[in-house]
Amino acid sequence: MLKFRREEISNSDQNRRRCSLCGGTAIKLNTLNLLGLIESESFGCQKCGSLFRYPLPDPAALSTYYDGNSERYPPRVQKRMAFDQVRWLRHALRQAGAPECLSFLEYGAGQGWLVSAVLKTHLSDHSTGIEADAGAVEWGRENLGANLLQGFVGSDIALQEEWSPEPSIVAMVHVLEHLHEPQATLASIRQRHPKAMLFLEVPNGLHEIPVIQRDIFPWSSMGQHLWSFSDVGLKCILESSGFRTVLLQSVGNGNFWKSRLRSLDVARLYQKLFRDWETNGGGIRDIVTKSATVLIHGLSTGVRNSLGRVSRTQLPSLRVLARPI
Ligand SMILES: [Zn+2]
Repeated sequence: MLKFRREEISNSDQNRRRCSLCGGTAIKLNTLNLLGLIESESFGCQKCGSLFRYPLPDPAALSTYYDGNSERYPPRVQKRMAFDQVRWLRHALRQAGAPECLSFLEYGAGQGWLVSAVLKTHLSDHSTGIEADAGAVEWGRENLGANLLQGFVGSDIALQEEWSPEPSIVAMVHVLEHLHEPQATLASIRQRHPKAMLFLEVPNGLHEIPVIQRDIFPWSSMGQHLWSFSDVGLKCILESSGFRTVLLQSVGNGNFWKSRLRSLDVARLYQKLFRDWETNGGGIRDIVTKSATVLIHGLSTGVRNSLGRVSRTQLPSLRVLARPI
C-alpha cells in the first residue's frame, strides 16, 4: 500500500476526513484550485490507499465544465487503447464464463472509439455511447459512424427510458475519477441496468497518487481528477454499489509517470529556492548558486525524460469486470 508523503501540514482533526470509499481515515495532503472552479484539498486514505478531493464543484458546474473541456489523445492512440480494451474485455468475459455480449453501452464515451471498436471486432452487434461533450459526439458520429447520444453520466443515467436490447455490458472508461459521487453513479447503473455486467477502467492510484500529491500547479491536467482509486478502494465502492468483482487487473507500464515526477520535482525545487530567497534574501553569489542548481537539475531531467519516454497507451490503469450481486 502507498505511504503518503506530507509536508508542512499539521496532524490536527481539521486535516482529517472520512473516506467515503472504505470508511477509513484520510489525511490532508495538499491544497489546490480544482479545475479552476473551486479551492479544494486532497486527502489520502490510510486504510484503502485512495486519494480524494474535498470540497468538490457541484454536479451542474462539473457537467458544464466537461461539455467542451475534455482532454483528447491523438486518434491513433485512442484507437489502439480501444482495441486493447476490447481484447481484455473478451478475455475477462471468457474467464467469467459469461454469455456473449448482446448489447454494449458506454457512459462517458468520448469520441466513441470503444463503441466503434466493439462493433468492428464483433464483440457485439449493438453498441451505444453517451457523452457530455457535444463536439466529441458530433466528431464520433461523422468520423467513426459511432452511435452516440449527448448526456452526462452523473445526471442522465435514465436518459433513454427503454433500451432495446437491454445492455448486457455497461462500460465506463476513465470516467469514475471525474465524477462528483462515483458510488451513487455506480448504484444508479446497477438499478437502471440490473442484469448488466460492468466494465471499468480507471488510472491506477498506486502510480498516479505520487504525481497528484506533487502536482498542484494550476495549469496541470492532473488537477482534473476528483478521485484516484487504489485496487482496495475500487473493490469497496463496487461492493457498496451492488457489484461483485469478477476480474481486477493492473495494466500498463509502472515507469509511465517517472518523467512527470522528475519535472515536478524540478518545478518544486525552483519554487522552494525562490520562496527561500524571498524570505531570507541573499546576495548576488547566492542567487547565482541557486539559479545554477535549478538549471543543472532542469537540464539533467530534460535529458533523462527524453530517454525514458513511455507511450500514453501504457498508462498504468486498473481494469475491472464486475457482475451485479
Ligand atoms: Zn479509503
